[in-house]
Amino acid sequence: MRVAVSSELSTFIAARVAGYPAEAPERLQWASPFVAEFAALPLYLGWTETIGIRPDGDLVRWSTEGDYAGVRPVEDRMWLLPALVDGARRYPELAILLPERPPGAVDCQCRNHPLLAPGQVLCGECGGVGWLPPSCRAERVAAPDTGRM
Ligand SMILES: [Zn+2]
Repeated sequence: MRVAVSSELSTFIAARVAGYPAEAPERLQWASPFVAEFAALPLYLGWTETIGIRPDGDLVRWSTEGDYAGVRPVEDRMWLLPALVDGARRYPELAILLPERPPGAVDCQCRNHPLLAPGQVLCGECGGVGWLPPSCRAERVAAPDTGRM
């Protein structure tokens, strides 16, 4: 999966990749060797897998537990939004990649959910953007057990 990035954003991502060891907060420093090896900026850091974005907008994932070598493409669309939302929390410049809330969209129930609202757990319904397209009204709030560091 690939998202369209402007040349400015591409330059930004490349700079963050290069600067990762110096810029990343201490709790995310462990990802530095992966960032250097795979030339991708981590968006979502799960327990066993990280999803990153490359300067060309390519979304890749890699195992941080040695489950497989190298990078794999991100093919499941359900990961796209959560990864971008998570990444945009640390890099507000990436928020431009998030979809715009369409007219008629409804607030996702996660906005009122004590665990989901502060962004502790990613919402499985809206992917973390906080709204749902008019066509799909959520019946429930799913709390996937995706670990966040
Ligand atoms: Zn939600």
